[in-house]
Amino acid sequence: MNSGALSIAPGERRRLVAATANPHKLIEIAAILGSAVELLPRPADLGEVVEDGDTLEANARLKAAAVCGHTGQAAVADDTGLEAAALGGAPGVKSARYAGEHADDADNRVRLLDELEEAVDRSARFRTVAIVVFPDGRELLAEGMTTGTIAVAPRGDGGFGYDPVFVPDGGDGRTFAEMSPDEKNAVSHRGRAFRALAAQLGL
Ligand code: IMP
Repeated sequence: MNSGALSIAPGERRRLVAATANPHKLIEIAAILGSAVELLPRPADLGEVVEDGDTLEANARLKAAAVCGHTGQAAVADDTGLEAAALGGAPGVKSARYAGEHADDADNRVRLLDELEEAVDRSARFRTVAIVVFPDGRELLAEGMTTGTIAVAPRGDGGFGYDPVFVPDGGDGRTFAEMSPDEKNAVSHRGRAFRALAAQLGL
């Protein structure tokens, strides 16, 4: 479907408005998409979007559609969840509010480590659903996943969210928070989702 809203002239930069208000995410997405995309920041006058969907896909769509509707421009959003096997896939779509409505990243990590204290199986995965919504209603969707294990204690100062407790499979045992941004993006759920999205955009 390389026509209409999806087609851009050779050499032209694709302009997308980012739906995220999280500066860490914005930096990652900009680095992953690279210079082929002009990533505009989320409009400051757009209120918070209530993420009350039951799935990552539903929440990503809510965010992208809200920004697209507000700006009249193509918008990109992602929603991410951490799924721990021993917790039946929790916190999943509730990852941002795992330790309560006003929980911060550190609170969420503490709850995760508490919940897994007795767990033998510490395997987990990050899943990201990334969606572009165009003003004419069309959308593109891509998903990315990284499997790994939850460390027994936080390690590292980089990244954000659950990065200090997530050790990706296939690495050298470092958490995402101990890796450089490029190292994380190369194997991360977000890196995989946005590279797949870029391919669909013909970038
Ligand atoms: P959301 O996609 O912004 O709603 O994020 C859901 C939750 O997952 C929040 O608690 C984020 O901090 C966390 N999160 C999202 N992406 C990442 C990541 O790449 N690494 C670690 N935590 C993340």
